[in-house]
Amino acid sequence: PDVGSQKERVVTEEEWLQKWEMGNIGFHKEQGHPLLQKYVDVLLNGRSGLKIFFPLCGKAVEMKWLADMGHSVVGVEISEQAVKEFFSEHSLPYCEEPVPEISGAKMFQSTSGNISLYCCSIYDLSSSIVGKFDGVWDRGALVAVNPSDRQRYASLMINLMEKKSSYLLVTVSYDPNKHKGPPFYVPESEIKSLFG
Ligand code: SAH
Repeated sequence: PDVGSQKERVVTEEEWLQKWEMGNIGFHKEQGHPLLQKYVDVLLNGRSGLKIFFPLCGKAVEMKWLADMGHSVVGVEISEQAVKEFFSEHSLPYCEEPVPEISGAKMFQSTSGNISLYCCSIYDLSSSIVGKFDGVWDRGALVAVNPSDRQRYASLMINLMEKKSSYLLVTVSYDPNKHKGPPFYVPESEIKSLFG
């Protein structure tokens, strides 16, 4: 299919912050994603105490679910409102601290220590700051990044993965001429070339 119409589209960080302010967050789901429930065994592969990454996390409820299973969860999200709503909606006490390596960034961590949410752009992260992950839950992340940033996003994600990690990716399939996105349509052939 012709994805030309979406290639040039840019959603700025300000626009994302505005969506949160306006409550324009139709992407947020109160129920855990059925595909995570279906494929969680693929993600975990019998392992326990994993370090799991949620890129562009919003206030995804699946973070709480995986943390409750004993894994440690790291998310990144540019909206501080989203991060604070996550902790308050789950009645989780947290503390807040600056991230010395990233100017202006803050890290919000549950008091129990197993959920750490970085409030900054994902492009500011690197494995020297957050380490590497055993698993990734990518829902509303690859499909939300601007098409022109996809290559950079995928290279970063590959860099943040341990050798034996699993990556669950949710994409959407539709006619890209009928909807401007996000979520953007990412053809399977492009996913293959991005991630190899
Ligand atoms: N994964 C979440 C949210 C999807 S919407 C879910 O499943 O509900 C995409 C989110 O990415 C928004 O909350 C937006 O604020 C955030 N975002 C957009 N660009 C970002 C960036 N460069 N770095 C970090 N977060 C970003």
